[in-house]
Amino acid sequence: MADSVPTESGSGSRSGDSLAQVDAEIHDCERCPLSQGRILTVPGEGDPNAVVMFVGEAPGAQEDKQGRPFIGRSGKFLEQVLTQVGLSRQEVFITSVVKCRPPKNRDPRPAELSACADYLDRQIALVDPRIIVTLGRFSMARWFPGEKITQIHGQVREIGEGRVALAMFHPAAALRNPPWRTAFEQDMQRLPELIRQVT
Ligand code: URA
Repeated sequence: MADSVPTESGSGSRSGDSLAQVDAEIHDCERCPLSQGRILTVPGEGDPNAVVMFVGEAPGAQEDKQGRPFIGRSGKFLEQVLTQVGLSRQEVFITSVVKCRPPKNRDPRPAELSACADYLDRQIALVDPRIIVTLGRFSMARWFPGEKITQIHGQVREIGEGRVALAMFHPAAALRNPPWRTAFEQDMQRLPELIRQVT
């Protein structure tokens, strides 16, 4: 894994930091009460040099059992829609804003989001993706604060450090709501052209 990077001021990366180090810290994390109820932490996975990083909300039951992101029903759907645009999950990086399962899959709380924020910052600094795809409201709120997902899904914005963010519905929400499912598939179709533009 070529994931060791020098410190770049302002980028959030630390000298000698690595994805393995971030994973190890998440594994032992007790920064918030979600650590008490988890089976496994779910740091994220994928190509350590991915151009595209998907950022979801929080692990569900399957993810909590296996320690891998998006492996349940919504993950299968995400993979299927990735395939429709010629991408595989192996060539992207997939993670979430919160790395432990909230009880009964409730929404993550502000204290949980802020306890976990530094892990995602470091993953972004290390993978250094050109494109971040936000999946759902909680991930969207990081780069599109105060916005409504129903209004901005499909939009691309520059977020600094030479990166853009594409806001999308969460795949679980898309599976529950047929018009959002159509929107999810259409928004994903923006990715190949975006990738061409940034690489
Ligand atoms: N949903 C998420 O947002 N993240 C996961 O890892 C799994 C399901």
